[in-house]
Amino acid sequence: MAATEKQTLGFQAEVKQLLNLMVHSLYSNKEIFLRELISNASDAADKLRYETIAKPELFESDPDLKIGVAFNKDARTITVSDNGIGMSRDEAVEHLGTIAKSGTREFFSQLSGDQQKDAALIGQFGVGFYSAFIVADKITVNSRRAGLPADQGVCWESDGTGEFTVETINKPSRGTEIILHLREGEDELLSGWQLKSIIRKYSDHISLPILMQKEEWDNDAKAMVMRDETETVNQASALWARNKADITEEQYKEFYKHVSHDFAEPMAYTHNRVEGRSEYTQLLYIPSRAPFDLWDRNQRGGIKLYIKRVFIMDDAEQLMPVYLRFVKGVIDSNDLPLNVSREILQESRDVKVIRDGSTRRVLGMLEELANAEEQEKKDKYASFWKEFGQALKEGIGEDHPNQERIAKLLRFASTHNDTDVENVSLEEYVKRMKEGQDKIYYITAENYTAAKSSPHLEIFRKKGVEVLLLTDRVDEWMLSFLREFDGKSLQSVAKGGLDLGKLEDEAEKKQHEETEAGYKELIDKMKTVLKEKAKDVRVTFRLTDSPACLVADEHDISGNLQRLMKSAGQKAPDTKPILEINPNHPLVQRLKYEDAKFDDWSHLLFDQALLAEGGGLADPAAFVKRINQMLLDGASK
Ligand code: ADP
Ligand code: MG
Repeated sequence: MAATEKQTLGFQAEVKQLLNLMVHSLYSNKEIFLRELISNASDAADKLRYETIAKPELFESDPDLKIGVAFNKDARTITVSDNGIGMSRDEAVEHLGTIAKSGTREFFSQLSGDQQKDAALIGQFGVGFYSAFIVADKITVNSRRAGLPADQGVCWESDGTGEFTVETINKPSRGTEIILHLREGEDELLSGWQLKSIIRKYSDHISLPILMQKEEWDNDAKAMVMRDETETVNQASALWARNKADITEEQYKEFYKHVSHDFAEPMAYTHNRVEGRSEYTQLLYIPSRAPFDLWDRNQRGGIKLYIKRVFIMDDAEQLMPVYLRFVKGVIDSNDLPLNVSREILQESRDVKVIRDGSTRRVLGMLEELANAEEQEKKDKYASFWKEFGQALKEGIGEDHPNQERIAKLLRFASTHNDTDVENVSLEEYVKRMKEGQDKIYYITAENYTAAKSSPHLEIFRKKGVEVLLLTDRVDEWMLSFLREFDGKSLQSVAKGGLDLGKLEDEAEKKQHEETEAGYKELIDKMKTVLKEKAKDVRVTFRLTDSPACLVADEHDISGNLQRLMKSAGQKAPDTKPILEINPNHPLVQRLKYEDAKFDDWSHLLFDQALLAEGGGLADPAAFVKRINQMLLDGASK
């Protein structure tokens, strides 16, 4: 659009909601607005520096990138300016009128309307530019994109209620100037001392100089007076390039908020300079909460790539495997060429070295939490698992070289726990295996309740053998890659024949064989009746309370996976389950002597076994009819 006249436009609905909520709920944190504006200015400088690698002329005659913070007591304004990339008119409309973040819709649909609860959520979402409306009742943004002529600047203005205006202006200097017209009562911000202390607290890590006009005590005037010179109020060096010993925990945390655009503190971080074949620095963070779109494997991740301190790109997904897409931070390479592209990154040996090294660092950071003695770290790992466990599980299939390390980090719900909390590790499981037990047993189901009350667990419960309860969608997929742990194979209790190995003694085995022989005739009859539904029918000793259950053949996919695939719209192989009946159950025992109703009883046994494992009946009406007939038969006796 070539319009130059002034236009009034409405904010995207979500922006209005965000503005409203933020102004009301973040007031006690209001000074963060400055951090957000400086963070944006720093990003804008990074973007310019990157574009100038190919087009040095974008520097115009102004190559020293910097950020300015100024205030005007009379006009009651605070101005944050930069000579970064700037915005065109269209960009201003788009970037300052809408939220481009992924997961925005999901986020807003979670809001409850309860201001306190929503305030906690808003922090998680990140506040950005709009946080300036906490202290300002009008904001003017003057900007010009690098490379555009002076007469194609833009003035964006809004009072933060529902609308904003844009107008084309003349702006000789490249970059952006943000003028906050302070709300009534915010005058304490109009002080050099106050602004400097906010900058030192939240923005010291910014690698560009942040300049303010120098103020000095004037003895004659008995007041602070402005001098003509400026001073740099932050350390103005890349935080990750500083010595670890010179960086405080607070600075690490504030830097995290800048790179991640997260409002909450990180859960853990690791900072290392790697020397050797490939030289690079990594500063990597694990967030404390999962983003709204963690499930989305197309999310590019949160690693910023720098080369010799020059920002190259956001979301450099080649630097971290997909299953660690939640890791945020900076990797600064000393070897890669400045003109590197995503395509080159894909191929580069150096990048592979960096990715492998960074992956190991992240796993190491997780191991340190997982294996810690201190309660605080243990709690952190539990919380990590709750937030990110699903993504980590993908690593079992994706990262073969680290599979064993990842397997040790897995946590499961278990029959040994009273709750659905996933806190049992495979190592712990192996440690308390029963004498004679040589397998790690698990069951997969749609949810915790279904898993825990599955009839397949009955014999294990009786023998006191632990079974892991798996209910995540990725579990079945993951298990197809994780065949064994610590030399012990993982065995589904709902697949194949029951093989308890040495958990069963000789006398038991002999008795089972005898019982089985007595049921041969019944089994044959049932096979004929159920030939459409069941692949096979057999006697089982895995049940103690239930009359029957279904199992999948050793090499078939489980009923649970079949249902998952169907619900995801995928084609699942149409394999039939095996019906197993419990010879010690009175219903099954009676069936031996049943004649007229034999077919109905057989179908009922099959159908209830299917229901018990969370399956859907092919013909529910027939099931109901049979049940009702049986109830009537019972009632008339
Ligand atoms: P975020 O920084 O997470 O992207 P913000 O709300 O802080 O979100 O900023 C929104 C967008 O506005 C930025 O992504 C950027 O495109 C644009 N923007 C904000 N401040 C500046 C600036 N000083 N220079 C150039 N673009 C800016
Ligand atoms: Mg921002």
